[in-house]
Amino acid sequence: MTISTIGVIGAGQMGLGIAQSFATAGLKVILNDINEAALERGLDTILNSLERLNSKGKLQESSDAIISRITTATELTAMADAQLVVEAVIEDEVLKQQILSELDWICPPNTILASNTSSISITRLATVTKRPDRVIGMHFMNPVPMMKLVEVITCLHTSTETYNSVIEMVNALEKVPVSAKDRPGFVVNRILIPMINEAVFTLDEGVASASEIDSAMQLGAAHPMGPLALADLIGLDTCLSIMQVLYEGYNDSKYRPCPLLKEMVDSGLLGRKSGRGFFDYS
Ligand code: NAD
Repeated sequence: MTISTIGVIGAGQMGLGIAQSFATAGLKVILNDINEAALERGLDTILNSLERLNSKGKLQESSDAIISRITTATELTAMADAQLVVEAVIEDEVLKQQILSELDWICPPNTILASNTSSISITRLATVTKRPDRVIGMHFMNPVPMMKLVEVITCLHTSTETYNSVIEMVNALEKVPVSAKDRPGFVVNRILIPMINEAVFTLDEGVASASEIDSAMQLGAAHPMGPLALADLIGLDTCLSIMQVLYEGYNDSKYRPCPLLKEMVDSGLLGRKSGRGFFDYS
């Protein structure tokens, strides 16, 4: 199957980066969100990001040429023209299942339905559709235009044809695929998010301040960014829901979310996207 049009559901930080990457690679993109304003803001965000890359000489085409390949839609029916749809709405299993089952009705039978979920079972998403062999995980990293890795998650239903097509797409994006089985957290988040959660416990127990914890990990473990600043970038709500998926998926108390992380999410302190998390962005 030739893939020339990509659907992206959700114009949040990940959906925008995914749309930008596919458009940069020369593919047509249909970007969907229920929120019209998010789509308008989103195109501006993509344009700014492209202009920054252009000023560094990192684009082979003008920003205008790239962005002209992206169209927007608030209706899911616009996805009928896509051969690959990447779902990137909020990390909510019921919502993702609802969207995948609607896409299953809307899209032609050979369209591949991919989810950018950070941790939700691809198997449970696949089984709400009548095409579980064409459902797969494509887990991009944040910020998408900069990060090379895409985890490709297969479940017992995924066909070899679907897997091969998705690996081909990842290569076309000039990114690097790493294949993983459908286990909670896959590879990166199973290791990364418990480390962030431990940093929150370290803060909650008063062992060190937020900036000291981050400096310690930057200078002592050569991390380019401290765990708490990284949590603010990912979004504390996303970090919490991944910890909950790990906790429930493995039934292991070592994955219990730190109470301070829960308290911050309940307080609306979600990191950069809300203006405040472990650090202040106002
Ligand atoms: P976000 O909150 O920035 O964006 C989510 C978008 O989904 C919003 O624009 C919202 O309006 C839209 N949305 C909500 N319901 C919708 C619906 N019914 N139809 C269409 N759009 C809808 O979230 P994000 O950080 O971009 O995360 C999106 C997904 O990517 C999640 O599954 C998350 O776990 C995953 N992910 C996040 C990161 C990260 O660092 N933030 C990294 C990898 C994967």
